Amino acid sequence: MPGESRRPRIARRRSKLHGWGVFALEPINKNTRIIDYAGELIDRKESLKRETKYLARGAVWCFTVNRRWVRDANVGGNVGRFVNHSCRPNCYSQIVGNTIWIRAGRNIKPGEELTYDYYTDGECVIRCRCRPGCTRRL
Ligand SMILES: [Zn+2]
Repeated sequence: MPGESRRPRIARRRSKLHGWGVFALEPINKNTRIIDYAGELIDRKESLKRETKYLARGAVWCFTVNRRWVRDANVGGNVGRFVNHSCRPNCYSQIVGNTIWIRAGRNIKPGEELTYDYYTDGECVIRCRCRPGCTRRL
């Protein structure tokens, strides 16, 4: 792709927030594109079916791209799917066409866990554990 630059090094590790998380291995500058949220592109109807199944296992894998499409990271996903939700995140998501980019919301230090706000509009069955006392549900 034109204008592509090297992606920062990141790694999947056990997270204090939830299961696996993704951590910076080097300093990441604000607004850097860190990784795209990969996954099978499916329509909303199919996504609703799958989400019900995934939520029963306490996981959120489906990321809404637009009114029509959803990416299911459980199928063909990359490490992007392990980036945890936080209500006070250090990253944000940006949709460009059908690509979901996870970008740095501020300068990130090596060793920090990457998080972004999922902005889910779903079932709200999973309790947010981004910090003690958070009352949000995903
Ligand atoms: Zn929270």
